[in-house]
Amino acid sequence: MSQLAYRRVLLKLSGEALMGNEDYGIDPNVLIRLAQEVIEASEAGAQIALVIGGGNIFRGAGLAAGGMDRVTGDHMGMLATVINALAMQDALEKQGGKARVMSALKINDVCEDYIRRRAIRHLEKGRLVIFAAGTGNPFFTTDSGAALRAIEIGADLLLKATKVDGVYDKDPKKYPDAIKLNNLSYDEVIARNLQVMDTAAFALCRDASLPLRIFDMAEPGVLLRILHGEQVGTLVQG
Ligand code: UDP
Repeated sequence: MSQLAYRRVLLKLSGEALMGNEDYGIDPNVLIRLAQEVIEASEAGAQIALVIGGGNIFRGAGLAAGGMDRVTGDHMGMLATVINALAMQDALEKQGGKARVMSALKINDVCEDYIRRRAIRHLEKGRLVIFAAGTGNPFFTTDSGAALRAIEIGADLLLKATKVDGVYDKDPKKYPDAIKLNNLSYDEVIARNLQVMDTAAFALCRDASLPLRIFDMAEPGVLLRILHGEQVGTLVQG
């Protein structure tokens, strides 16, 4: 195999990616498969950080729509991401990896607090770092948390795993003639109003010139292929 194209990456998984075919929670088989992919990529020499959403458990906006105070709902959403992060930490370690959860909210009986320099140290030692609780603030998403942490740790690439294999000119589920866009600039994404990630997260990536690859994690081995420089999904860069 060729040398790795990236030294340090941050992989963002949605909470829903852990659900498999269930409506809620975590499918252990899906979790193990994802963990195996991450470990395979890490064993190839890449430093890998992860952010996992919480949408398989709670989202603040959804709770608020049901009448709950939005900030309380967002706190619950952030705690949901901690649950997912702990599950992933366990799966990674069961598969032979070394992992650390670092939370933006202080709950240091169950995981480490997020400290940037310590996170980088973990990565340099070959540990997988899972950033939990997003940005630590309500009214943000884990996409923003992922963009923020990726920039802070000096990641070469932000990888956003989705259920679609990249960005299309229109919704491929609705329009069979939708065309996949393999390469985009930040300005094209804005000009064409393409839904890549939420606006705050996207603005962070653009301002920091952080390249972003959107891809489908369902295909086995895809993470490693991307790390070897294969053009999978859609790459957004300056
Ligand atoms: N959240 C938040 N601040 C953050 C990140 C997340 O308040 O910085 C809350 C918010 O309620 C969000 C929930 O945590 O809906 C779960 O995150 P997200 O919706 O991004 O998860 P995903 O859609 O990726 O599963």
